[in-house]
Amino acid sequence: MSKMSDMNRAPRRLPLVCRLVLGSCAWMLWIVVIGCATNPYTQRTQFVLVPDSFLNEIAAQQYEQVLSDPKIVISQDPREVEPVKRVAARIIEAAKHSKYAETAKQFDWEVTVIKDDQTKNAWALPGGKIAVYTGMFPIAKNEAGLAVVLGHEVVHALAKHGAERMSQALVAQFGMAAASIVLSAQGLSPELHRLALQAIGLGAQVGVILPFSRRHESEADYVGLLLAAQAGYDPREAVRLWERMAQASQGREPPEFLSTHPSHQTRIADLQRWMPEALVLYQQAPKAPVADLPSISADPPPSVSRSANGQ
Ligand SMILES: [Zn+2]
Repeated sequence: MSKMSDMNRAPRRLPLVCRLVLGSCAWMLWIVVIGCATNPYTQRTQFVLVPDSFLNEIAAQQYEQVLSDPKIVISQDPREVEPVKRVAARIIEAAKHSKYAETAKQFDWEVTVIKDDQTKNAWALPGGKIAVYTGMFPIAKNEAGLAVVLGHEVVHALAKHGAERMSQALVAQFGMAAASIVLSAQGLSPELHRLALQAIGLGAQVGVILPFSRRHESEADYVGLLLAAQAGYDPREAVRLWERMAQASQGREPPEFLSTHPSHQTRIADLQRWMPEALVLYQQAPKAPVADLPSISADPPPSVSRSANGQ
C-alpha cells in the first residue's frame, strides 16, 4: 500500500535538471516574445533585444569621436552644406509623418558634411546622427538623388536594423538568457562595444564591417523610396542613382556606400516594382527644389581642400 502511494507521489515532482530546462525554455520564450516587433511597412517580424537608448548612446558617442578625428575635415562650404541640410530636413520631416513617426520624433537629429572627395559614402546612425561625404556628390548628382541615399540610410536607423543585428550577434555569441543579462549590466565591455559599432554600421572605424543583410537592404530601399517621395522628391531618380552607382562600381575604387550594399540589378528591378506606390506619394507631396549638387573636382574651395589634402 505504502509502495503504491510512493509511486503515485513520485511523478508529481520533476527532477531538478528538467525544472532547470523548462525554466530556461520559459525564460527564452519570454525574451523572444518581448523581443519581437513588427515592421510597420513590410510587416516583417523583427527580433530586437537591444533597447533603443543603448545603441543611440553608443552611436552619439561614436559620432562625436568620428567628427573630432583630426583626419576628418568638416565642410563649412555653404555650397556643400546647404543642399545636404535642406534634403536631410525634408527627409526627417517626412519620417516624422511616416509610420516611424514616434521613433523619428525621439531622435536627436544632426547632419554633418565631411569634406572627403575620395569617400563615396553616407550613413545615418541609430538616434539620428547623419554624415554625408562629399565624394558621394557625383553619384547622388542632384538633391533628388541625395534624398534617395538619405532616405535609405535613415530607414536603417529608424527601422532599428542595427539593434536587430546586435541582438542576433548577442544571441549567437552568448545565448539568449546571457544576452539579456549582458545588456542589463551597466558596464560596457570592450567586446560589447565592438559588437555595437559593427551593428550600427561603423565597424569600419574599428576595422571590421558587418554588412547589412539583403533583407535590411531591401527594406531600406523600399521605405527609403517612399520617404523620398513623401518628402517631395521624384522617386524615379532612385533608378538613375543606382545606375550611376553601378557605373561607379566599375572603376578602380568602388563606392564605400556600395561595399555593404550588393546587387544593382535586383535592386533596380525592385525599385521599379515599388515605383507606382512611391509615385502616388510624390504626386500628393509639395515638390522639393532639386538643384544639382556642387561639382567636387572642378572648383573646390581652396581653404577646405588644402586641409583635406594635408591630412
Ligand atoms: Zn543600406
